Amino acid sequence: MIPLADAQARVHGDIKVLPTATVRLQDALGLVLAEAVVAREAIPPFANTAMDGFALRAADSVGATEGAPRTLPVAETIAAGAVATRPLLAGEVMRIMTGAPIPEGADAVIMVELTRSSSGSEESISDALSIDLLAEVVVGNHIRPAGDDVGAGVEVLSPGAVLSPAHLGVLASVGYGQVVVVRRPRVGVFSTGDELVTGPAPLQPGQIRDSNRPTLLALVAESGCIPIDLGSLPDNEELIEAALRKAVGPDADDPCDALVTSGGVSMGDFDFVKRVLARLGDLNWMQVAIKPAKPLAFGLLMDTPIFGLPGNPVSSMVSFELFARPALLKMMGRKQTERTAIWAVSDDRMSRHGDGKTHFMRVVVDQDSEGAWNARSAGGQGSHQLTAMARANGLAVVPDGDGIEPGGRVRVMLLD
Ligand code: AMP
Ligand code: MG
Repeated sequence: MIPLADAQARVHGDIKVLPTATVRLQDALGLVLAEAVVAREAIPPFANTAMDGFALRAADSVGATEGAPRTLPVAETIAAGAVATRPLLAGEVMRIMTGAPIPEGADAVIMVELTRSSSGSEESISDALSIDLLAEVVVGNHIRPAGDDVGAGVEVLSPGAVLSPAHLGVLASVGYGQVVVVRRPRVGVFSTGDELVTGPAPLQPGQIRDSNRPTLLALVAESGCIPIDLGSLPDNEELIEAALRKAVGPDADDPCDALVTSGGVSMGDFDFVKRVLARLGDLNWMQVAIKPAKPLAFGLLMDTPIFGLPGNPVSSMVSFELFARPALLKMMGRKQTERTAIWAVSDDRMSRHGDGKTHFMRVVVDQDSEGAWNARSAGGQGSHQLTAMARANGLAVVPDGDGIEPGGRVRVMLLD
């Protein structure tokens, strides 16, 4: 057995960042920016009003109060998207809507709530020909100057940024419809096992349903990669070899950037994934000092990383979390490839015995009102007991030894 950190380092060392590509903004979420983005335009592009109200010269509001309002004529109305037909003159106002450009000659905006129709009738403020100012305003009031958010020529995003929804908005606001990013990996997933059945057909003796494939496809998608469903294969050396060659080469038309398989990597007589990888590629078969997910067949085939994960449903997920996910994130150019880990207080006893391995227990964690974390078992801890994994939102890292007493501290990898 080798320590987890060594196994992770071996995998990490073999992973390369994918080449860059130009993608549309709507396809760029979660990808890593490869080139600096410089604002070609200022945001906002022109001085505009932050409020619905009236543009004016601040000097014309001097002394205005609710009891002694100043009355000014409304010269025209400026909607967002329109511009005033002429400059504003002293002693008048222009009705203006949020986002509309400040007319030349105006130096302030008074919000509509501090005005009323001067006719005193029921006439609505939006039709009023003249209005009463009920307060003074200062120069610049409610005006958002041009370039208030970003000046033209400024670097708004630097290479390495992981594109978030707000980043995409910034890119759109400075006129970018596409960006240069590290390419999104295409990741093939297949499961292996003669016992596997897909779909609702009644199970024959000895058969089980293939649960790993949908789970691993979803984990791939959740990591930000493109999942490619390569089906379920029997324990047949020729078929597994053909699938690998077709997915990554040399027989591939549209090669995957990585493969994730489940099953067939242990010590059983029918564990062909391991054998095929050893024959075709550069196999690192590891017995990692962890539970679950001890066996891992990691290899490079035509330079493409292959993650041969164990078949037990919880094992395949834990192995994905510890090896495949960080590697896929590295391929995407991410610097942060680890899940967030926190310290929690264990509500119950996390029992185990010394076996030279680090145990990853499925736990539910939550925070109290002070922000302190508590952890408790999510249920059955067998590597076939997927329901506890489904309930869990964390993996407690329980070091070799006798486990953790109630009230003891434990490190937990957060799964969401
Ligand atoms: P293996 O790693 O192939 O020895 O499989 C270990 C255990 O996981 C066996 O009990 C298999 O039946 C089970 N198993 C393997 N593949 C899957 C799968 N795709 N879905 C659910 N269980 C599986
Ligand atoms: Mg098997």
